[in-house]
Amino acid sequence: MGERKAALVTGSTSGIGLAVATAFAKAGMDVMLNGLGDAAEIEKLRAGLEHDAGVAVKFDGANLMDANAAAGLVESTVGAFGKVDVIVNNAGMQFVSPVEDFPVDKWNAIIALNLSAAFHTTRAAFAGMKQRRYGRIINICSAHAHVASPFKSAYVAAKHGLLGFTKTIALEGATFNIRANGISPGYVHTPLVENQIPDTMKARNMTREQVINDVLLAAQPTKEFVKAEDIAGLALFLLSDAANQINGASLNIDGGWTAA
Ligand code: NAD
Repeated sequence: MGERKAALVTGSTSGIGLAVATAFAKAGMDVMLNGLGDAAEIEKLRAGLEHDAGVAVKFDGANLMDANAAAGLVESTVGAFGKVDVIVNNAGMQFVSPVEDFPVDKWNAIIALNLSAAFHTTRAAFAGMKQRRYGRIINICSAHAHVASPFKSAYVAAKHGLLGFTKTIALEGATFNIRANGISPGYVHTPLVENQIPDTMKARNMTREQVINDVLLAAQPTKEFVKAEDIAGLALFLLSDAANQINGASLNIDGGWTAA
């Protein structure tokens, strides 16, 4: 990859973001971690990854619900590494409820985190990427950027919006060697998915096993969860030379869900 790249991965204290950040560090990139969680545990994670990978790994706990904090996260990444070459907009949350009962504050939170935060980080980083004529933006979308499921109105709206945003910046950056793509996973068994099982049990009047088999894996023709490490592998591929002409795409990694 030539000179060492600097990557910001939002929401990288857990799940998919953590797998991506780990893969990036092990591939020789400096990495800015971000996310919520127990400070001591996060520090252990950060120090362990830095030690194992032999790169610089920093942490900034910016709360991405806040526009200024999201832009500030880019600033602190540039402060740490002198630049930001790669942004993976991954931080996200879910809430499951019939639309007529959907709490307004949950709607606003999901739009802020799953959609607007990607705008704020991109907006803050784009001029620098243009100037250096290098930028790779990977937005973690979802099968729900393409298809809907009942009771996930905010999430589905945010993910459709995130893919539209991805396509737009792909066009704006195209001649500046900036590439923007979406990765659209099916179900990955992370805390985000685990936490929605009880609400889905309630909303659909089902047992835990029924939710896993008849709701979650029912959508995936392979009947298997996607692995967070597989998504990290795809993100690494998007940074490779072979992916130079992949721009504005949604790469589906969903066991065939959106083919059905
Ligand atoms: P997760 O809950 O395991 O991790 C979410 C991360 O976001 C954590 O690091 C958390 O601390 C961070 N985060 C939450 N709120 C934050 C905030 N306000 N500010 C900063 N960071 C915050 O979730 P995951 O399953 O790894 O999901 C990661 C992304 O992948 C999300 O955008 C999600 O929509 C998407 N996705 C997940 C699945 C899946 O099945 N798990 C499928 C498709 C897409």
